[in-house]
Amino acid sequence: MSKEFDVVVIGAGPGGYIAAIRAAQLGKSVACIEKWKNPAGALKLGGTCLNVGCIPSKALLASSEEFENASHHLADHGISVNDVKIDVTKMLARKEGIVEKMTKGIEFLFRKNKITWLKGHGKFTGKNEAGVQIEVSGEGETEVVTAKNVIIATGSKARHLPGMPVDNKIIADNEGALSFDTVPKKLAVIGAGVIGLELGSVWRRLGAEVTVLEALPEFLGAADQALAKEAAKLFKKQGLDIHVGVKVGEVKATDKNVTINYTDKDGNAQVLEADRLIVSVGRVPNTDNLGLEAIGLKTNERGFIDIDDHCATAVPNVYAIGDVVRGPMLAHKAEDEGVLVAEIIDGQKPHIDYNCIPWVIYTEPEIAWVGKTEQQLKSEGREIKTGQFPFMANGRALGINKADGFVKMIADAKTDELLGVHIISANASDLIAEAVVAMEFKAAAEDIGRICHPHPSLSEVMREAALAVDKRALNM
Ligand code: FAD
Ligand code: NAD
Repeated sequence: MSKEFDVVVIGAGPGGYIAAIRAAQLGKSVACIEKWKNPAGALKLGGTCLNVGCIPSKALLASSEEFENASHHLADHGISVNDVKIDVTKMLARKEGIVEKMTKGIEFLFRKNKITWLKGHGKFTGKNEAGVQIEVSGEGETEVVTAKNVIIATGSKARHLPGMPVDNKIIADNEGALSFDTVPKKLAVIGAGVIGLELGSVWRRLGAEVTVLEALPEFLGAADQALAKEAAKLFKKQGLDIHVGVKVGEVKATDKNVTINYTDKDGNAQVLEADRLIVSVGRVPNTDNLGLEAIGLKTNERGFIDIDDHCATAVPNVYAIGDVVRGPMLAHKAEDEGVLVAEIIDGQKPHIDYNCIPWVIYTEPEIAWVGKTEQQLKSEGREIKTGQFPFMANGRALGINKADGFVKMIADAKTDELLGVHIISANASDLIAEAVVAMEFKAAAEDIGRICHPHPSLSEVMREAALAVDKRALNM
């Protein structure tokens, strides 16, 4: 007889493993199917985020930031260091150590919550009155389990482009770009999105000459254009060479370098030679060999699984969350959907306000926002007022030598309700949390302006920007 579970989760990324833990907390019998193997062949929990995404990229961003500070910015403090060197092997080993600690941590959480890890590839084989049947194969004996409820959390993989075979040595996607064994002298990046900017920054800080080619005519089109403009200015100063409005043509790679032919925004043919190329042009949902048809499901024209507002698919008791469904491809969005679905299965009535999901780009300075941009609100015909305050006028920012950037707050012209908060600064990833709380509670800009903020701290700029909405910033 096949094993039976209240909940079977397919995929143990941040969506799946959090869903599994929440369902177990609520007293369900839970199994999670996961097949991820690291390059050494060891099976790992944690998905893209822990293995080749959020966590390793932030480890390398931190290492490269230390290197850049030591090389260029410690002198501002009167500290001289000679002969700063980077040991790439050690930097990568540190990153791998963090990944190992985090993925092992999830194994511990699975044991603690009595979640069964079914090792291998999950595939639907059918459904009957007992539930949905899923075959688990690839590691040892193939088995079929039955689930009363299924959560599909199979995530996404890098989108590759025709004519650009990824070998993760010369032409790399995120996996290769997180593991280059030397600093490339010249690095080309196709796609000036989040991965292109973050990983382009890592290797630039370590000494690579980085050229980024972006198809769209506008830089960071999803961000408020005031932030995008400031970011473009600062990245240019740092030496990131970003070209927008390009059309990439033929790409030729040898085992030593790569030549990229492209047409620039003025229609001129250009040739870019580089040692390595990162292709970061978005991600595609993982549904290969998932057997969706066996339970009467199919993917939509973009490859995603269609769901309703509660992450329910068209098949009763089958849910889908995270990167494999609509919405931003963000770990915290996947996690929140995991909690939501586990609680729905438990009979609760949870809710996610997608307008309150924050975005962060971990460049230097960081870029973070929540809610809508000025451009979006204006195109909706909303009457708004805005307030902006620079970090240059903040004592703490000057003290830590990170005075670039500003906070911009947007509120409803009549009610003063906060509609969007946009930050470009050091630690923007932490500062944005206050704005998320404020927006979840439907706060007015005045509410933030009236709250006591610690002095001296970067958070004072949040208060000043809120006061600036009412044209009464105190320190400007
Ligand atoms: P995934 O994390 O992709 O996990 C899906 C899991 O399902 C995988 O482990 C896969 O092996 C498994 N799986 C798939 N199919 C099957 C099957 N049939 N059987 C068994 N197992 C299966 N987001 C942020 O919020 N912040 C960041 O800083 C950030 N940085 C990133 C940096 C990089 C370089 C990349 C690539 C992504 C980054 N992201 C970041 C995005 C984030 O990683 C994803 O949004 C997140 O991992 C999605 O979670 P998920 O659970 O939906 O899927
Ligand atoms: P992205 O969607 O952020 O950016 C892709 C960029 O490539 C876009 O600007 C697009 O216009 C451009 N592009 C597409 N095709 C092109 C072509 N042929 N030539 C030139 N440019 C082209 O995708 P990404 O950077 O690959 O990241 C994938 C996902 O991972 C993102 O959706 C993001 O949500 C997630 N991620 C998040 C973080 C974070 O939260 N800090 C970090 C990394 C990745």
